[in-house]
Amino acid sequence: MMRRKNDNKRYFTRMGTRKKVHAFVRVKPTDDFAHEMIKYGDDNKSIDIHIKKDLQKGFVNNKQTDWSFKLDGVLHNASQDLVYETVAKDVVAQALDGYNGTIMCYGQTGAGKTYTMTGTTENYKHRGILPRALQQVFRMIEERPTHAITVRVSYLEIYNESLFDLLSTLPCVGPSVTPMTIVENPQGVFIKGLSVHLTSQEEDAFSLLFEGETNRIIASHTMNKNSSRSHCIFTIYVEAHSRTLSDEKYITSKINLVDLAGSERLKKSGSEGRVLKEATYINKSLSFLEQAIIALGDQKRDHIPFRQCKLTHALKDSLGGNCNMVLLTNIYGEASQLEETLSSLRFASRMKLVTTEPAINEKYDAERMVKNLEKELALLKQELAIHDSLANRTLVNYDPMDEIQIAEINSQVRRYLEGTLDEIDIINLRQIQEVFNQFRVVLSQQEQEVELTLRRKYTLIDKNDFAAISAVQKAGLMDVDGHLVGEPDGQGFGLGVTPFSAKPGKKAKSKKMFKEQLSTSARKEGASSPVGGKDLDFSTSKTQLTPSSKEGDVKDMLMRDRETSSTEPLPLDSPKEELRPPRPSTPPPKPVAFEDFKNERGSEINRIFKENKSILNERRKRASETTQRINAIKREMDMTKEALNFQKSLREKQGEYENKGLMIIDEEEFLLILKLKDLKKQYRTEYQDLRDLKAEIQYCQHLVDQCRHRLLMEFDIWYNESFFIPEDIQVSLKPGSSIRPGMVPISRIVSLHNYLKTMMGFQQAHRK
Ligand code: ADP
Ligand code: MG
Repeated sequence: MMRRKNDNKRYFTRMGTRKKVHAFVRVKPTDDFAHEMIKYGDDNKSIDIHIKKDLQKGFVNNKQTDWSFKLDGVLHNASQDLVYETVAKDVVAQALDGYNGTIMCYGQTGAGKTYTMTGTTENYKHRGILPRALQQVFRMIEERPTHAITVRVSYLEIYNESLFDLLSTLPCVGPSVTPMTIVENPQGVFIKGLSVHLTSQEEDAFSLLFEGETNRIIASHTMNKNSSRSHCIFTIYVEAHSRTLSDEKYITSKINLVDLAGSERLKKSGSEGRVLKEATYINKSLSFLEQAIIALGDQKRDHIPFRQCKLTHALKDSLGGNCNMVLLTNIYGEASQLEETLSSLRFASRMKLVTTEPAINEKYDAERMVKNLEKELALLKQELAIHDSLANRTLVNYDPMDEIQIAEINSQVRRYLEGTLDEIDIINLRQIQEVFNQFRVVLSQQEQEVELTLRRKYTLIDKNDFAAISAVQKAGLMDVDGHLVGEPDGQGFGLGVTPFSAKPGKKAKSKKMFKEQLSTSARKEGASSPVGGKDLDFSTSKTQLTPSSKEGDVKDMLMRDRETSSTEPLPLDSPKEELRPPRPSTPPPKPVAFEDFKNERGSEINRIFKENKSILNERRKRASETTQRINAIKREMDMTKEALNFQKSLREKQGEYENKGLMIIDEEEFLLILKLKDLKKQYRTEYQDLRDLKAEIQYCQHLVDQCRHRLLMEFDIWYNESFFIPEDIQVSLKPGSSIRPGMVPISRIVSLHNYLKTMMGFQQAHRK
């Protein structure tokens, strides 16, 4: 729903409803009024015409004798005052709220168009719509001290499709070199070359109006053009800016007051030359005017023929469409003029059917908008400063972040993800946004790293590529669940290969079937089973044996454990015994075993791992402190710069002193310069330190990663050797024995063991 302003207090009223073109009829007073033929309705809104039979002879092919015209008002014996009130007052008032308005006088020559529009210049009482409109505009401006309103006027005459500036004789208007043209731009339509005059008061506007009127009359003498044979458009341009500077919206509007050329049709005979030419132009332009207005009222029409003639083109943004439109038809009251009167009334009733949809011409003052936004910004910054100091949050910097600050946030995010940093303190919105940003950066880096590691270690196969999968399964590289077994680089032995009778290439239909198969085969082997003849809990052992285990994974644990809890034991009660405890019937969960491992074989590597981590943490802490110092120095530099600027402005205000080409500055300014230089030096040193630290951190991080990897690898070997390799074979794996831990894949050891057992005649597999 659109709204429109109406006056100072009542700013908006409902709008968006379609309005009709208002059509009025004004009858020229006469002593010879055709009472029998012209009758007014009681409501003064209709006219009935009745033609007597004998008169009708003159009307070719027209058998009709009675017409009834419904209008918005019939002005009969109406004073100029009443005409203005009825026809123009609202249109002018709404123009000050941003609606374009057009008032046109239509009718045959002598019927009173000019009288209605301009009035008689010699009698103030008989002044027409034009002077009254100017008066109303200026009066309304006075009533609106809240707005700075400017008024401009122009006076255009269109004669035989040529444009004339009726105010071109004013001293301020230079001689026009090129003929006037109608130009369209996004702001609307304007006439290039037509002088537009700023008028700050009523008197100025009146004098312009008289100038134009005089010129119109003079031209009819010097240029031999009949003044009633031309269209005249007097335009009042209004632009209203709110005096409240924060209001960047402003409105513009035009009031077009149009005195049309006489609409009478030329008698068939006797016209020639100039008169014929004039009549042809007038007929054409008036019929184009009608076409354009009717097209505007037709919502289905998207093309309006505005450019067909100068009149409609010049009035393009002021006809129908989004403006208030009034058509005043001037008619004679005499019987002898009935034919033209009828034609004029027909035109009026056609116009009355047209609907328009007035809209405000609202524009934005870009410069004001920027200024207001700048002001708002400064105010909000101040507000923020106050807020910070009240909340004891001093020295928060809200400026855009520099490289170092962003790097620091990146480091925070990394530490947060790793678990070395419990939380990231919220400082301001910009910082929060940067934290999120860095999360994204770190995440995408990690994704790439993970993929790279996986690709280096494994051959990735598309899950939907069944041919490739079956090929891999045939080659024994993948179990039926799609887990890759074994590792191509030979590092991860002991993981993944099922140590029991699940034969490579043997297809099982489901995971469940596969598990059943495994457990039966394990049961069959009974006491000879390398794990002591008991059923294995495959759900655990499988997790432990596949490289991509999820829960209870030591890798996960290590990541969690990383750097923070390195000194604390895991929240699991793990017995810490010097000697290896007797082998349990089922292998302990990996996290528990890991604790044992760290105290046992892994103690040395674990110590190195912890040491490296603490060095890394220490370096990180130092880097963070250095970053903070750098930020503090930077802030101080900013402050010093500001103080220096202030001193400089003071110096400039007080006048500058020069001595032999050298600027004399006072001690305060000099000290500030020294301070700034010193700060700059500090900044550089700290920055260099930070860079060195960053390099060190990177190196330490690498060491920690390597240690972690090593620890894990050793643990896996230890775990498998401790819980999956038969005790008798473990002897040969003891330190000082021939086989070094991790040298032979566990699968090989186990199958070798089985083979040996068979050879030695142990047939315990069938023993219950
Ligand atoms: P138009 O502009 O339509 O050709 P004018 O406005 O020039 O007609 O009117 C012709 C004459 O009639 C003028 O002398 C004018 O003063 C006079 N006249 C027109 N209408 C009225 C009226 N309502 N009251 C008094 N005089 C009128
Ligand atoms: Mg006239």
